[in-house]
Amino acid sequence: MLTKKKLCDVPLSNKKVFLRCDLNVPLNSDGSILSSGRIISSLPTIVYALERGAKLVLLSHLGRVKQESDKKRLSLRVVADDLRVKLKQIFEKDVPVHFSPFTSGPKLKEAVESLQNSEVLVLENTRFEDLNNKAESKNNSVLAKEWAGLADIFINDAFGTTHRAHASNVGIAEFVNQSCLGLLVEHEIQQLSVLTNSPKKPFIAIMGGAKISDKLGVLERLLKLVDRLLVGGGIAYTFLKAIGQEIGKSLYDKNSLESAAKLYSEYRDKIVLPVDFVCTSSATSSIEVLDTIPPHLDSLDIGPKTIALFESHILSAKTIFWNGPLGYYEKPEFAVATESVAKVLADHPSAYIVIGGGDSAAAVSKFADKISHISTGGGASLEYLEGKLLPGLSTVSECFGEECSRDCLQEWYNLKKHILSKIVL
Ligand code: ADP
Ligand code: MG
Repeated sequence: MLTKKKLCDVPLSNKKVFLRCDLNVPLNSDGSILSSGRIISSLPTIVYALERGAKLVLLSHLGRVKQESDKKRLSLRVVADDLRVKLKQIFEKDVPVHFSPFTSGPKLKEAVESLQNSEVLVLENTRFEDLNNKAESKNNSVLAKEWAGLADIFINDAFGTTHRAHASNVGIAEFVNQSCLGLLVEHEIQQLSVLTNSPKKPFIAIMGGAKISDKLGVLERLLKLVDRLLVGGGIAYTFLKAIGQEIGKSLYDKNSLESAAKLYSEYRDKIVLPVDFVCTSSATSSIEVLDTIPPHLDSLDIGPKTIALFESHILSAKTIFWNGPLGYYEKPEFAVATESVAKVLADHPSAYIVIGGGDSAAAVSKFADKISHISTGGGASLEYLEGKLLPGLSTVSECFGEECSRDCLQEWYNLKKHILSKIVL
């Protein structure tokens, strides 16, 4: 992966630089930004490019645009406004942040052409183009060529979409003259590759979440790498059912039973399944903790004995990967296991800990500074670990011989520190 061109391999001054970020921030119902975490994560590459005199054009999607009426609540204008405030704090002066309501056409071209060095142009939500036969999400080549034709250089810094082939990350990279990875993406790959290349042992993975069918591939790969796989959340019940245990009315996936049984028979010594359960009945909504799930009850969290069992494995581990909540954590009465494990991870004296997944990242957000790495990409981090080719990475220009730096990560660390010291959170 490090044969890809990196940000510090490419001169940016006076160039029209199209930068794909993941600015897909969660919004409040009034349209304001709920959390600007994704904007903050994108700042190192943005600041790097502005410091070097790029004419910087930012592309990002925001939510899903299916019909004309979605456009009103999914405009990236709020993000451009927030970015303007943050850049002023960082540079201690006004940085021009323009906004283009046009995602294609002559007005966009005009806006790009009139951009000056060290100025920013934020394009409207790239998924507005989806109203034209899903041009963005289906990687329409006419759209991708149009964007590529406006750019001298393309930077992919949107790790969260690297597992998808859209016009704004894959198509544009295919048609532009030169492309490279952004600092956030380079950092993500470096952190995740520790897990696949050189994990300190014991290495354990904790897997939960709802849909096992999405996770079978990564489970299989992880089982080859780890010493133990601790299974909780909705996916545990498919394993339990597959090995013949009663799971009552708990969530499971019929179509994944065979695969789960196969994994269990191959890796029986590594897979740690729950031994007690927080059960409920939708009729009475009473809660009981039981060692086995009776036929009429639904288990929505793992119980205290399982939490203790998981803790003992966690404390002896040197490398830990966690994806997926261990229960129906949106309801406080079923969030106990997820919160307890988050706390144990935060207090771990020494392990290298990586969290992947939107819901799992939300569950540890209180302890974010105590976790080695929280991935900005849920699906992307799982597909990377699974060993799949990520189209958003594979389409970026290659780097050869002396034109390539070893890495640009020192820039990422320095900029991140500088940015966090300047912006008002
Ligand atoms: P991530 O975003 O971290 O990858 P997932 O999206 O796979 O995680 O799964 C998150 C969802 O799984 C949450 O909405 C959570 O409520 C649900 N979940 C976890 N355990 C259970 C359970 N036992 N029963 C029902 N839902 C569960
Ligand atoms: Mg999720």
